[in-house]
Order: sequence, then C-alpha cells, then structure tokens
Amino acid sequence: MKIWLDGGLQDSESARVSVFDHGLTVGDGIFETVKAVEGRPFALTRHLDRLARSAHGLGLPDPDRDEVRRACAAVLDANPVPLGRLRITYTGGHGPLGSDRGDRGPTLAVALGESARRPDSTAVITVPWTRNERGALTGLKTTSYAENVVALARAREQGASEAVFANTVGQLCEGTGSNVFVVLDGEIHTPPVASGCLAGITRALAVEWTGARETELPLDVLERADEIFLTSTLRDVQGVHRVDGRELPGAPGPVTAKAMRIFDERAGHDLDP
Ligand code: PLP
Repeated sequence: MKIWLDGGLQDSESARVSVFDHGLTVGDGIFETVKAVEGRPFALTRHLDRLARSAHGLGLPDPDRDEVRRACAAVLDANPVPLGRLRITYTGGHGPLGSDRGDRGPTLAVALGESARRPDSTAVITVPWTRNERGALTGLKTTSYAENVVALARAREQGASEAVFANTVGQLCEGTGSNVFVVLDGEIHTPPVASGCLAGITRALAVEWTGARETELPLDVLERADEIFLTSTLRDVQGVHRVDGRELPGAPGPVTAKAMRIFDERAGHDLDP
C-alpha cells in the first residue's frame, strides 16, 4: 500500500512519523475520512472546507488544498479499490513533549482503506457520557477520538454498531462517527450543530436533499421516534432497527428508505456535490 507522507508517496510498511509528533503525543491533529468510489473521492471540496475549519479551530496553519488534492489523487491512483476510504490526517507536527507546539510545521498524511457497503439497518445504543456543546474542540474533527473508541466498544459489547451521545443538557447530539435523524409524524428531524454534533457532510446533504429540519430534541425522542437513521461518510444513510432495548420492526421504514434512495441517486450522479 502506498500512502502520502512528507510531500510524496511512500510505502506504508516503511513510512515513519516521529514519536515526537504532536498528533501522537497529545492528540493535536485533525482528520477527514473521504469516501472514494472507483478511485474518485466523494464531496472532496466539502471535506477540504471542513479540514480548513478544523485547522483554524486548532490554530494549525491552513492546509495546502492543492497538496491535499494531489495527495488524495496519488494515493487513489496507486491503490485501486472499488470502494475505499481516504484518511487525511493533519497534525501539529514534530514538537517538544508537552502541550507547546514545535516550529517544524504540520504533518500531512493520506492513507487509504478498503470499505464495503453497510447493511441497510443497524442497532445502536445510547451511552451515559455526554458531548460538550461548548468546548474548545466542539464541532472540530480532531484526532482526539478516544471517547468515541470507548463508547463504540460499549456498543459492540451489546451487539450494536454505534453509540449515541446526548449533550450536557440532555439533548440528542450524535453518534461516535455519525449524525442521527429521527422521523416524527412523517417529518425528518436532526439536531442542530449547536447541539455539539459534528457538521457531518452526509448530514448536510441529507438535510438539503430531504428537507429534514434541524430541531433541538431530547435524547428520549429515541424511545418514541417512528423511524431513526444515521448518516456518515461510511454509512451513507442507514436505518436503525434497535435502539437500546427498543426494536423498530421493518427498519428501514418508508421515510428512511426514501431518504436512502434519494441519497444514492443524487450522490451517484455527482461526486463533488
Ligand atoms: N459525527 C462524528 C463525531 C463523526 O466522526 C462523523 C464522521 O466521522 C460524523 C458525525 C459524520 O460526518 P460525515 O458525514 O462528514 O462523515
């Protein structure tokens, strides 16, 4: 596998990042996961916009968009897969131990993993830990994902593929790597970005394409929603057939199924919507 590091393609077996890299020592980094279909990245412009917003939020220099585009293209060319996930990682770079950043500049790495289409529906759990809707990192896609790792492990223990967080005031927020939508009386709702969720790219497309409304919702809406679905780069639109002990028979329900259809049609036509 060829990856991009230090301005060029390298063999993944021999590529090396410093053990003093701030991304490793203090989680000072940001990332994007980009779907790639037949060697072409999906919604790359939106991902680059979000990468720039995350960099700004962390006080990292603006990523060089042309280099990131070139890196993605080179990695995709070098590793042909039918359906892949590009992982763009951008960190504070080599620095002293501790929280001060070094001055050698950021590290940019791009790697590719193969992925597979997800099932049409899945099980989720809710977790007792909260997302902070007012933190310094809220809304930034940082590499500090350990809380998501812990929550996802809890979900796996319970036969689920995703864990859903409320925020500190008990509102529905998001999953470890997905946004959450609910259907109430035929209308689609999803929490606003002010809830503390990531401004998911699939979420934004789903809102645009289905007319879903951004609504503050209590976490317990999951106990009564007619349908629930998740959105993410790796899931696209995916129905939920169980949340905690509650079964939702027939998932994906009709509204979710329509959202899936719309997403597949539109996303299939336009790789950079
Ligand atoms: N929320 C979190 C915390 C995520 O990590 C992700 C994606 O990784 C999402 C939501 C979904 O965002 P996107 O649709 O851009 O993949």
